[in-house]
Amino acid sequence: MHDPEGKRSEQRPGRERPVAGLTALGETARHTLRVPGALRRVRTLLQLNQVRGFDCPGCAWPDPEERSRAEFCENGAKHVAHEATPRRVTRKFFSRWPLSKLKDQSDHWLEQQGRLAEPMLKRRGSDRYEPVSWEDAFQHIAGVLRQLDSPNEALFYTSGRTSNEAAFLYQLFVRQFGTNNLPDCSNMCHESTSTALPEVVGTGKGTVGLADFDRADAIFLIGQNPGSNHPRMLTSLQSAKRRGCRIVSINPLRERGLVSFAHPKELRGLLGKGTLISDLFLQLRVGGDVAVLKGIMKAVLEAEERAPGSVLDGSFIREYTTGFEAFRKALQTVRWEDVEAQSGLLRGEMRQAAEIYVGAERVIACWAMGITQHKHAVSNVQEIVNLMLLRGNIGKEGAGLCPVRGHSNVQGDRTMGICEKPPSEFLERLGKEFGFEPPQEHGLNTVGAIRALAEGQAKVFIALGGNFVAATPDTHYTANAVRSCRLTVQISTMLNRSHVVVGEEALILPCLGRTERDMQGGRPQFVTVENSMCVVHRSQGHLAPASKHLRSEPAIIAGLAETVLKGRTKVPWKALARDYDRIREHIAHVVRGFENFNRAVRAPHGFVLQSGACSRAFETASGRAHFSVHPLPRQTLEPGQYLMTTIRSHDQFNTTIYSFDDRYRGVRGHRRVVFLHPTDMAEAGLEENQLVDLASHFQGEIRTVAGFRAIPFDLPRRCAATYFPEANPLVPIGSIADRSHTPTYKSIVITISPSS
Ligand code: SF4
Repeated sequence: MHDPEGKRSEQRPGRERPVAGLTALGETARHTLRVPGALRRVRTLLQLNQVRGFDCPGCAWPDPEERSRAEFCENGAKHVAHEATPRRVTRKFFSRWPLSKLKDQSDHWLEQQGRLAEPMLKRRGSDRYEPVSWEDAFQHIAGVLRQLDSPNEALFYTSGRTSNEAAFLYQLFVRQFGTNNLPDCSNMCHESTSTALPEVVGTGKGTVGLADFDRADAIFLIGQNPGSNHPRMLTSLQSAKRRGCRIVSINPLRERGLVSFAHPKELRGLLGKGTLISDLFLQLRVGGDVAVLKGIMKAVLEAEERAPGSVLDGSFIREYTTGFEAFRKALQTVRWEDVEAQSGLLRGEMRQAAEIYVGAERVIACWAMGITQHKHAVSNVQEIVNLMLLRGNIGKEGAGLCPVRGHSNVQGDRTMGICEKPPSEFLERLGKEFGFEPPQEHGLNTVGAIRALAEGQAKVFIALGGNFVAATPDTHYTANAVRSCRLTVQISTMLNRSHVVVGEEALILPCLGRTERDMQGGRPQFVTVENSMCVVHRSQGHLAPASKHLRSEPAIIAGLAETVLKGRTKVPWKALARDYDRIREHIAHVVRGFENFNRAVRAPHGFVLQSGACSRAFETASGRAHFSVHPLPRQTLEPGQYLMTTIRSHDQFNTTIYSFDDRYRGVRGHRRVVFLHPTDMAEAGLEENQLVDLASHFQGEIRTVAGFRAIPFDLPRRCAATYFPEANPLVPIGSIADRSHTPTYKSIVITISPSS
């Protein structure tokens, strides 16, 4: 790997070992068999991602049509073992654990206490949760909501695990209540994708299917670490490699999952024989994405100038795009020296990537939060589109855009209307379907919601899943904001930080998990989800519910809506919750692409929501794909400053921590760590594992965290990496992406000092 400031540190022994392999099998067994009820969990695992089974509550990587008997990865097994735990958090648990004691426990400890088993209420001035009936809980919430001066004083958050049916009912309830305050976890992850793509290709979603990975000649993996965050993607990448497809990885950290993969379902994989994944690994500087993409495109244009008409797809550009000339002129004014300085790479490396791009007839570009959580995230995404348009790599087999979502139904929730700025067409169809005037005024996104809580404009916070307090930026600011509100309500499966950091009053409403049987109206119900590749399919759990008190998300929302909206709603809430087909009939009338939903989703593999871009019918203002022009962001660091990016370990899923190990990065037993280049550590006089304090610097504001271990790692000079959510206190509430307002978890300026 290139290092303009001298030779990069030697690789630690074994760090280049392939990921997965026998160890993944061992870890799967360990998580599945380590607590009582192992047989039950093994049976459950065999239903995971199966046609008549349940969808993995983990990431949103799609399932192949041909499913293996064990259609899951190691992390999928961890998610199932976690949800199917025999441990229960009952009234007895809360009688032993007042909030004043729970707050001192780690996030990992809280999540390990087990499944929430019954509705609990914490009254104003009390330090304890006490049992409450469902009806009393709904009445309590209704009472507080009715006291508000405006519906906009309430916030209704959604996590990406929520099913389509629950999400549709939730947004309907919230809009009948009178607000669009529907912040969701997508605001913190792919919002930049949903903001950037519609204006340049006419859809906010990807344009490829899993089958396209079988036809691509080259795949670009940008700001993504599939080895830990989308592990089954490695199967598709491995088979692509075996076909001769070339892969370019663009990531500051030399992630083992981008280097080599040993398939745990193959003998050679179990023997540790890996498949090289990346043909080229560009370790750009944190936040250098626009620069590296401009560098690759400059090299492509240079190749075109050397052999006019042989590199660019001229007919595609003429027929299907607009803005090329302005784009080309602007790019020509960008100097290579600036591109190298801002990317942290040499032009030679970007030219290598361009050669691979130009040498391929069909290219797929994949990205995740390494692209979407920066100040210039919208530009990052649109520069990826610019690159793909140059050779017509959108709307043809084996080519296209692939934003990979990190939560199983985060895309589906947005499709169902979970959005603080809903399209007017959607509101019109919703109002017509249910005979009411939906609120038109845009609501608050996640950062806006936190500010409203902190400034007292919002007084009630209701969360459908998730762990808001841990997942959000500026942890102490957010925690104080949440504590200041009158009522917090968490609809959840597992105990977490957001049940401990609460408002004056707090309610816990425990719901069914993905793995569990959902009986309504005396019949088993299934829900639906939408994965990263726009496949809408069913999910049905078969396990007996963890407690007789649990209710499904749709049933909870229906009960709440009926109570809160008493006398001002004609929606037959309870009837909808008794038969999800009836919810889907309404979805079919309101959401475009869901016509005949109940019939279409009963097909073995569900159906695909095809956007116009998939066939080059770009639904943009001009009806064409747009080349766009973006300035080259310039990041300068003062002496002693680093650009910090937050990452996930291999043993976590979003804020759920399964262990303190991160074997692909050589970390055991720690999560408060900061990865640094060995030369930077030497120059700063830091020893390996030395405890250090980190301080972030933003518009004159300083935020600190203490007691992090300095760990040498293969990443560019003056860059640092820490774990989400431990480093979230360093992410300022005001540090957000332009236009999409996604918190900039991936690039924060910090300084490091030895702990005293
Ligand atoms: S790749 Fe993602 S969706 Fe598939 S089993 Fe693993 S965690 Fe679950």
